[in-house]
Amino acid sequence: MERLMRLLAPQTVIGFCLRFLCLIGLLASASGFFHHFIDDHSDGHLVYFVLHSVVVSGPLVAFFLAVTHFQVQLQTNLWALSREDGLTGLYNRRTFFDLTATARSKKKEGVLMMIDADRFKVINDTYGHQVGDECLKSIAYTIKRNIREADIVGRIGGEEFAVYLHASTLVHARAIGERLTKPISFSTDATGPLTVTLSIGAATTNADWSIDDIFGFADHALYQAKQQGRARMIIFDDIEAAQVASGAA
Ligand code: GH3
Ligand code: MG
Ligand code: MG
Repeated sequence: MERLMRLLAPQTVIGFCLRFLCLIGLLASASGFFHHFIDDHSDGHLVYFVLHSVVVSGPLVAFFLAVTHFQVQLQTNLWALSREDGLTGLYNRRTFFDLTATARSKKKEGVLMMIDADRFKVINDTYGHQVGDECLKSIAYTIKRNIREADIVGRIGGEEFAVYLHASTLVHARAIGERLTKPISFSTDATGPLTVTLSIGAATTNADWSIDDIFGFADHALYQAKQQGRARMIIFDDIEAAQVASGAA
């Protein structure tokens, strides 16, 4: 179908005219064929009009439907591609933030998790970029497997991911964080079994903060997780609560 489309699509005015004349020629031939072989005494009857439409216009209508189908499929594929990260199949950064903003506009309760692979550069430098890519795919798969269908997950940077736990609480986030901060195993033909760990910063999204602010809070918590030794989850709300408690003491 794609080849046929390329063949038929005019690139220049001359190309357009040539194709136009060819198609009109085909239609005229079909019309001539109809009148020569079929058109007899049935002129003026319903069956005449139906037969005439099928023989003369049928191929054109079928082609129009095929083109419409092709066009819609192409648009659907392009739309999906523009929303996805090509390597992992997760949402890309823009889509992740759009979907999270939409989810928050319906219900504020939720938890944002910023996730970063630990010492990922070492994997790349030791085993090569392709192994690094396999590692990213395993991370994406593991994150996806540990969240619910209603949650939103995206790859928002090189080895950075984000999850929005929609209509969810810190209790749920802690359980997910515990699972995700255990070493993730993956394997390639060239290297055999390897592991990678994740650091996570999380923040609740319940208050009237903007998504950019909440992103900043979760990022701050992620920074703390890295500082405290990696392979762990730090929750921004806990940091804040500790600060309030130490201020009160
Ligand atoms: P940290 O624990 O502090 O996060 O250390 P890190 O090594 O994970 O972080 P750093 O920012 O030093 O390195 C990230 C690396 O990720 C560097 C970059 O080359 C690599 N990277 C980014 N995008 C891709 C990708 O699509 N594929 C691969 N294989 N590597 C990527
Ligand atoms: Mg990073
Ligand atoms: Mg990293």
